[in-house]
Order: sequence, then C-alpha cells, then structure tokens
Amino acid sequence: MHKKSNIKRGIRQKLRRGEWSALAPIGYFNDSKTRKVVLDSKKYHKVKKIFELYATSNYSLPVLVEIAKKMNFKNRSGKNLWIHSIEQILDNPFYYGVMRWKGEIYEGTHPPIISKKLYDKVQEVRKQRSRSTGKKNKNFVFRGNIYCDECGAMITADTHKGHNYYHCTRRKGKCSQNKYIREEGLAYQMAVALSKIWINDTTKSKMLRYLEKCKKKEAGESASAIQGLETGLKTIDGKLNRLLDGYISGIVEQEEYQTKRQDLINKKFEIKQKLDSLAQDSTGWFEPTKEVVIDCNSVGEIVKEKNYQRFVEIVQKAGANFVLKDKLFSFSWKEPFNFISKNRNFTFLSTKSPDVFNPLSPSSKKLFQSLAQKLFPETDLFQDWWSRVEKVRTYYKDNFSAQQ
Ligand SMILES: [Zn+2]
Repeated sequence: MHKKSNIKRGIRQKLRRGEWSALAPIGYFNDSKTRKVVLDSKKYHKVKKIFELYATSNYSLPVLVEIAKKMNFKNRSGKNLWIHSIEQILDNPFYYGVMRWKGEIYEGTHPPIISKKLYDKVQEVRKQRSRSTGKKNKNFVFRGNIYCDECGAMITADTHKGHNYYHCTRRKGKCSQNKYIREEGLAYQMAVALSKIWINDTTKSKMLRYLEKCKKKEAGESASAIQGLETGLKTIDGKLNRLLDGYISGIVEQEEYQTKRQDLINKKFEIKQKLDSLAQDSTGWFEPTKEVVIDCNSVGEIVKEKNYQRFVEIVQKAGANFVLKDKLFSFSWKEPFNFISKNRNFTFLSTKSPDVFNPLSPSSKKLFQSLAQKLFPETDLFQDWWSRVEKVRTYYKDNFSAQQ
C-alpha cells in the first residue's frame, strides 16, 4: 500500500513538472537519454493528418483506417492501425500539449502536434457521429437532423415504392402533422436555401483577392496583441499560484482546487496557442474567412451534383435548428454564413418566407437541372459582396482577437 502511494506521488510530481513517464503515444517517442517525449519525425505529420481529415466530418473511422494504410501509418509493432487505435489518437489531448492522467489534465512540456482548436473540433464531430450512427437505417440521408416544427419530435423516413418519404415520428404525443414529403422535395428546398449563400466564381476571386490584400496589411500589426496575451499569461500564473496557496493552507477544498486549476490550465493553453499563431501570423481570421468563401462557392457544384450527403454537410455547417412543418423545411443561418445569406431573395421563386420554399411535388432530375440553372447563374448576383465578406472577416477577427 505504502509503496504504491509513493509511486503515485512520484508520477503526480512528474506530471506537475510537465513530464510524461509512461509510454509516449504514437507520433512521439520517449528519448531514453534525455527522458523527454520527442516528436517521431516519421509519424507526427500522419497523426496531424488524421485529426485534420476527421475534423472535416467527411471521413468515417473505417475510411480513416484505409487512409492510414495508404499513408503507411503503422503502430509500434509495425501493424496497420485499426479503428480502436484511430479512436485512441482522436481522443488523446496529449497531441495539443496537455497530459491526461486519471481524468486530470496536466500541462505538458512536449511539443504539440495539433492545436487545441482542432482537437475541440474533432471532439465535436465525434459527438455528432456517435449520435448519428447506431441508427437502424443509414440510407435516409436527411434523417437525424430535422425536427417537427409543431411537436418537436424527430423527423423520420420510410421507403415507399422506391422513394424515401420524411415525416414526423409523433413520438412526443399529439401532433397534427401527418403529411409526408419526398426526399427530392426536401433536397429541393435545401438547394433553394443554399443558393442564398452562393458565391459565383467571379465574386469568389474578387473576395479572395480582397482578403489577401487585408492579410498583407495586417501581418505587420501584431506587436500589441502579443503583448496583451503575454500579460494574460502572467495573470493566469498569478491566479494559479494563489490557488495553490489557498489549497495548501486549507482555504480551498480539493475538488474546487482541481476544477479551477484545470480551468486555468486550459485557458493558459488557449492563450499560448494564440500566441504561437500570432508569432507566425497575426491574421488568424484569414484561413477561416477564406474557407467560408470557398464553401459558399462550392454550393453551386454540390447542388448540380445532387449529392445529398454533401447537402447535409454544408447545411449543417452553415445552419442550425432544422425544422419541417406542412412539408416546408426551414432553418436559421449560423454566423458568419448569415452575413452572406442576408436579404438575398430570389423573385423568380415563390417563396413564402426568406428561408422557406414551397415544393410543388417536385419530380427529381429535370427539376434539379432547371433549378440549378436558375439558382446559380453565371452573372454576379449581388453587388454588395464587399460589405458581406468584410462582415465575415470581422466575425473571425473578433474570434481570434487577443482579448481573453
Ligand atoms: Zn410533429
């Protein structure tokens, strides 16, 4: 007993110093000379790739297993990674720089492979996926995301004579919604909604050139931001010290100490990573803003392809609160996509409200072709592109600002 608790204490002490005494996770190895955890130059970029791919939410675990095989990504025993090993990688906060031991988080001294932001994104996707898998039938692409606007129950689907129909499960009790909508009808409405964020090729190029220009201008203006973050770090260190004093002197309970401590360490990490990215680049808004522009531009292609899975992906990325009522599909735009979609009405479509389209029993193929032509013409649809992209940019600038 006594010995065991001594060992535990030893481990904790090491952890507090930021040292990892156990076997380093894949992507790192334990340097036996320095006793430090160092990057495995052959593997760490593969770990990063796995995180990046998974975060796009376009790759399932079995697909990642295949990709890992193609990358020649092997485990310590030289075997291919299997689903469980990929899960272990995606679940391990070690990769963004902290160490988890017995449910507690410690600040590490090892080099991070990914950002905390990427790690968080991956956890989000994992949650979403675990919710959507395990359902009986995965063929209904729009199921699991849409709710009945009358009773709040989930919208489900059935197949009838080769067509998929969506309707309220009415599992929450009384509901008068007894209409069924064809999958094509739902997709049609989604396509119409998506057209509101569409950016054509010409506008896309204009926007990207504008963003590049802003980036160049701002790259040199980061000094004061860095200073602000460094002050923030000092403040947290002060808080950590006071917290420890409080704990030692018995003013702060153990449980409170641990939660607060973890909270502060997490904050510290966020700041450190902001600092890291600022050190290289003061323009953290650039990539996400560019991504929005590219996503919005891809909408036309997605609709023309009639790829429902991609409909779902882009709609989930850009919107929230998906509901169905009387066969009408609607949702709200998420920031910053709302800046692109705002007040873009298409008079040639009979819309009841900006985000709702009345589907008059659409028959699939022909309808989609004519729809795509109408919704995604080559001419520039909106002249105020500049103020819209500027709003998106400001949104991400605020997100990446130096303030805590
Ligand atoms: Zn209902």
